Amino acid sequence: MTTDNVTMWRELDIDLKSHDRLLGALGPIYQQIYLSQRNRPEGMGFFDFVVGDIHGIRVRELREHAKNGGKVVATYCVFVPEELVWAAGAIPVGLCAGTQFSVPIAEEVLPRNTCALIKSSFGFKLGKICPYVQASHLIVGETTCDGKKKMFEMLGQYQPVYVMEVPNKKTAASRQLWLEEVRAFKGVLEKLTQNEITAENLSAATQLTNQRRRALKRLYDLRKARPVPISGKDALLVTQVSFYDDAGRCTRQVSALCDELDKRVAKGEGVALEDAPRILISGSPMAIPNWKLHHLLETAGAVVVCEESCTGTRHFSDLVAPGSDGLDGALNTIAERYMNIHCACFTPNNERLDDIVNLTKEYRADGVIHYNLQFCHTYANEAVRVEKRLEEEGIPLLRIETDYGDEDTGQLKTRIEAFLEMLRK
Ligand code: SF4
Ligand code: SF4
Repeated sequence: MTTDNVTMWRELDIDLKSHDRLLGALGPIYQQIYLSQRNRPEGMGFFDFVVGDIHGIRVRELREHAKNGGKVVATYCVFVPEELVWAAGAIPVGLCAGTQFSVPIAEEVLPRNTCALIKSSFGFKLGKICPYVQASHLIVGETTCDGKKKMFEMLGQYQPVYVMEVPNKKTAASRQLWLEEVRAFKGVLEKLTQNEITAENLSAATQLTNQRRRALKRLYDLRKARPVPISGKDALLVTQVSFYDDAGRCTRQVSALCDELDKRVAKGEGVALEDAPRILISGSPMAIPNWKLHHLLETAGAVVVCEESCTGTRHFSDLVAPGSDGLDGALNTIAERYMNIHCACFTPNNERLDDIVNLTKEYRADGVIHYNLQFCHTYANEAVRVEKRLEEEGIPLLRIETDYGDEDTGQLKTRIEAFLEMLRK
C-alpha cells in the first residue's frame, strides 16, 4: 500500500480502516484461489497485477481524467450503452460488487432478503469503501429488477443517479421506448460532460467497444478446445476486469493472452485433464471477487468452459452494427444491440433458453449449472423453464442458489461432487 494511494483514498473520503480490512482479506483469498493454480498462462500476469493494485492505478487514472475536466460514469448493468459514455469523453466503470464484506453494512438499511449483488453494491457506498464509486460523477442505474430500482432511489441520497428504463418485453413498442431511453441518455451525458456526441465520436467509441467484445469472444472461443487452455476462474477474471479497465488496454491484453492460448491449443496443452467434466454456468452475474462457484467446481476436478451470464457471453456476444444513417442511425443500432441481451428481466425470454442449449453444444459442455443469487426472483423463476428445456434436450443440469457467504460451501461441495460423479458415468 503506497502513501500515494492512501492520500488519494483520503481525498475520496474512503473509510480507511474498513478499506484496509477489505484489501487485507482480498490478498490471501486471491493467493489461495488464483495464484495456487498450476500451469496458468503468462498473459494472466497483467490481470494479477490489476487485482493486486485493485484500488490503486486504475482509480488514479480516473482521478487524472477528472482533474483534466473529464467525467467518470458508473454503471451496474450491461444494459447501459457504454459507447455513449466514451463518445461523450467520459469513462465508464462497472460497479457491481461481489463481496460479502459490504453486505452487513447494507443490511443496516436494506431488507436482508435482497440479493447479495444489490446489498454488496449498496454497502460499498454506505461504508465508503469503494474508490470507484467515490470517484464517479454520475451513477447510471436501470429498471431491470425491482430490488435495484429501489436501491437506486436510496443511492440517489448520496450521489447523483440517473436511471434508464429498460423495457420488460421485446415488442415493437418496447423497442421504441428503449430507443427513446438511449436518446435521452445521450442528452444526459452531453449535459454532464459539456461535450456533444456526434456521429464521428460515436463511431470511434463503437469501434473501441466492439474491439473489446471481439477480443473477449476470441478468448471464449479458445475455451471450446479440448483440453481447455485456460481455467474458468482465469477467464472469469478477465471478463470481470474488462468492466473497469481501460477498453483499449484491455483489448490489447486479452489479445496477447489469446495469442498465447492459440499456441497452447496448437500443442494440445491444457489446464485440466482431457476428460475433466466440462461445465457451462448460466444465470446471475458474478461480479469481482465472486469466484466461489468456479473455485468449487475446478477444485473438484471439473473445468468451467463458458458462462452464459452478464459476466460472460451476454457482455460481448453481439457487436453494434455500423449505423448507415448518421447519428440517428448509430443510436438505432446501439439500441438494437442492447435489446439483444437476454436478461431474465424480459418476458418472455425464450432466446435465453436457446442460448443455453446452443452454448452447451458449442462449448462441448457435459453439464450446466444454473447459478442463482439468493433472492433474485427473475432468475430463480426462469430456472424452472431452463430445467424443463434442458431435460427435453437431454442436457444434465444442477440448480444452485447461493450468496456471497461461505456458510453453504460444504453443502455446495457435496452437491457439486455428486453432479460431477454423475457426469463421469
Ligand atoms: S442480469 Fe440483467 S440486470 Fe443483471 S447485469 Fe445482466 S442484464 Fe443487467
Ligand atoms: S442478480 Fe437478480 S436480483 Fe440481483 S441485481 Fe441482478 S437481476 Fe436484480
